[in-house]
Amino acid sequence: MSYRKIERLVTPGEFHFVGDGFKVHNFVPGDTGLDQRRMDPFVMLDYNAPMEVKASDGKPKGVGPHPHRGFETVTIAYKGNVAHHDSHGGGGVIGEGDVQWMTAASGVLHKEYYSEAFNKQGGIFQMVQLWVNLPAKDKMSTPKYQSIENANMPKVTLADGKSYVEVIAGEYVGNKGPASTFTPIHLLNAKLQKGGHADFDFPENYTVAIIAIDGNATINGEQKIKTNQLALLDRSATDFSISAEENAVILILAGEPIGEPIASYGPFVMNTKDEIITAMNDFNVGKFGFLED
Ligand code: MN
Repeated sequence: MSYRKIERLVTPGEFHFVGDGFKVHNFVPGDTGLDQRRMDPFVMLDYNAPMEVKASDGKPKGVGPHPHRGFETVTIAYKGNVAHHDSHGGGGVIGEGDVQWMTAASGVLHKEYYSEAFNKQGGIFQMVQLWVNLPAKDKMSTPKYQSIENANMPKVTLADGKSYVEVIAGEYVGNKGPASTFTPIHLLNAKLQKGGHADFDFPENYTVAIIAIDGNATINGEQKIKTNQLALLDRSATDFSISAEENAVILILAGEPIGEPIASYGPFVMNTKDEIITAMNDFNVGKFGFLED
């Protein structure tokens, strides 16, 4: 049997701050070789590896009002929690294990920061932010916001009876996740006990990557991935497996490529340069609404 193999293994390099609260490693696109064409439909991925946040009585840190158009921002909170508000009326706090799925589409302003409670209490913070592209026909659709609580994600128990796969979007062996998506996307967390094993299978043309959020693991019984690394899997087969060498949390992203031109500039991801210029003009004249800092 043939398996999808690791095409590129990325170890987090330098970090940079997004606003004053998020200390992220940029996996996609950036200088990792994971360009937007190869990663289609995933146009950006920032990873905030575990970091200590000191308790504070000041204003919660984060990033103030900024625009997005043409795609969706998906934030997965692994440790700590994140608050969000947008100019379309979406908002809320997501806690450990929860996900916020914001469809910016035609355009919103939003802000992202630590929740009041987490800011006061401090603790470990760990998060993934993924940008999922939208097909041309949906780029100017109405914005929406999905708050996805961990309790509503199916948990599919694996052979050892203790490990499981949690379904955020798409499905795992017939168990569908709560997120609604515009194109076929599977977003899964494999939460494995030491020695636990999970098998996956996605159509050969899908873009598939995994991130070792916590713990080291082995792919197809031969290739290793270490904590905080991202592995892009190739398109040579449909199947692959993950075995945990210790208790591990592995994020699996799989998506059908949209296959359209990508014009990307800062917070806007469109199909053409003209559409980027229109987005900047629309933002400058206030068409994205208003949001208080
Ligand atoms: Mn944002």
